[in-house]
Amino acid sequence: MDTGLQGKQALVCAASKGLGKACAQALAAEGVNLTLVARTPGPLSETAQEIRERYGVEVREVAIDITTPEGVDAAISAFPAIDILVTNAGGPPPGDFRDWDREAWHKAVDANMLTPIELMKRAVDGMIERGFGRIVNITSGAVKAPIAVLGLSNGARSGLTGFVAGLARETVAHNVTINNLLPGPFETDRLEQVFKGEAKRRNISPEEAREQRRNNHPAKRFGQPEEFGSACVFLCSAHSGFITGQNLLLDGGAYPGTF
Ligand code: NAP
Repeated sequence: MDTGLQGKQALVCAASKGLGKACAQALAAEGVNLTLVARTPGPLSETAQEIRERYGVEVREVAIDITTPEGVDAAISAFPAIDILVTNAGGPPPGDFRDWDREAWHKAVDANMLTPIELMKRAVDGMIERGFGRIVNITSGAVKAPIAVLGLSNGARSGLTGFVAGLARETVAHNVTINNLLPGPFETDRLEQVFKGEAKRRNISPEEAREQRRNNHPAKRFGQPEEFGSACVFLCSAHSGFITGQNLLLDGGAYPGTF
């Protein structure tokens, strides 16, 4: 299938590793030029170089914290005529809601709700003018099936989801779609951190935590980042102009509901 994305420009946030990197690679494979953002310059440069060499596309690097106003400015300024925006940032830490003060909530809401909204605000009018835009927000399966210890994530990302539901209906007439991808467990550094935290809480080894989680999963495996990247490309493709305001759960069947 020709995705119609050759020569488009994408801003992919939190993209030196994991799911953001997988989206960047999958877009590059379709001929999309990229701006990649992550805080740590070394891994960011390695990823950028790997993508340039493998796919022959242009890759700009912005080493900055995307959850700050300066981060948003720098990411947008690197190439303002954005056709595709993938919002992403690290997830908030787990814990007990009794321990979270206003600052902890502000941080989570900044990272996982306000930053994506600010990025959309900067990108969407140019997309409307050019008559093409695809926005994909990486959120979490926890938006659909909340995970108690991830209350900061459940709350902040649900706020983003509610906002997107409204905006997505305003932009679609201009061929600008906005959708959310909801990852279940994908094999990334983040998932390893989750197992380490779980192991500590339950006094077992991270390997045991991993194996138990895998055995309890209907697919008996975790998602591969490439599978996530492919879903992102489909939502960004020329064929997806009639899909907007949706929350696509990628969890290998872990969510037990019919809908
Ligand atoms: P990951 O493998 O740890 O990768 C995170 C990437 O984001 C890295 O490139 C990191 O680079 C960058 N990053 C983190 N914070 C950033 C910031 N403030 N500004 C710019 N870049 C930042 O994580 P992942 O598994 O891909 O997860 C991506 C998102 O999906 C997270 O929000 C996570 O909570 C969510 N999620 C993941 C899973 C899963 O199973 N993997 C499941 C549900 C939800 P630097 O550290 O150098 O900045």
